[in-house]
Amino acid sequence: MSGRRDELAGNLAQVRARIADAAGRAGRSPEEVTLTVVTKFFPASDVRLLADLGVRHVGENRHQEAEAKAAECADLGLTWHFIGGLQSNKAAAVAAYADVVESVDRAKLLRGLSSGAHQRDHVVDVLVQVSLDTDPGDGGRAGVPPVDVERLAEQVAATEGLRLRGVMAVAPLGEDPLPAFAKLAEIAASVRSIEPSATWISAGMSGDLEAAVESGATHVRIGSAVLGSRPARR
Ligand SMILES: *Cc1c(COP(=O)(O)O)cnc(C)c1O
Repeated sequence: MSGRRDELAGNLAQVRARIADAAGRAGRSPEEVTLTVVTKFFPASDVRLLADLGVRHVGENRHQEAEAKAAECADLGLTWHFIGGLQSNKAAAVAAYADVVESVDRAKLLRGLSSGAHQRDHVVDVLVQVSLDTDPGDGGRAGVPPVDVERLAEQVAATEGLRLRGVMAVAPLGEDPLPAFAKLAEIAASVRSIEPSATWISAGMSGDLEAAVESGATHVRIGSAVLGSRPARR
């Protein structure tokens, strides 16, 4: 177990140094960037070690796994980010344990999220997930097309129990992430014109966190660079 702790500590130090370097190059303070460690596929024991190493934000992308882990780690006081594809019939259950839902890509999810927030009597922070695919017809990644972002953001802002915080995106596969993240920064500005406090930009993963931080990301979602490569999907 101490071997695993040392491994995670070393990886975390490297990731934090990468964030600090990228922030420095962009003339930003590293404190402007929140590190969310994506713990999907890894056990609650790793979440515990990470909490002990100072991690406050964790991300999960599958409802059942996230719900179980959040319950097992409830004593740690962590902030849980849901970052995966959401089914509308699971939205209420997700909002019952998630503090932040980063993957809101359609209005159909809002009723369930609102009722889940209400059940736990807390406000859920919401990011609108934006598709940055240059060819959206290409079966690409999840997210709302840029032209539809403002409308969905307005709907989130108008929903009881939800707080519009900003935008999230994944860089398109196999493309230079910089122009994609620059586009995301423009979209984020248009969302701030609707809700000035919606200042979060969640972008950047293990492979492209530098491009994200240099493009203004306030949150990075890092899995494999901290935890190691994920076990094969069962
Ligand atoms: C898994 C995942 C991450 C983390 O990816 P790594 O490449 O392992 O850092 C980030 N964001 C989303 C949406 C993910 O599903």
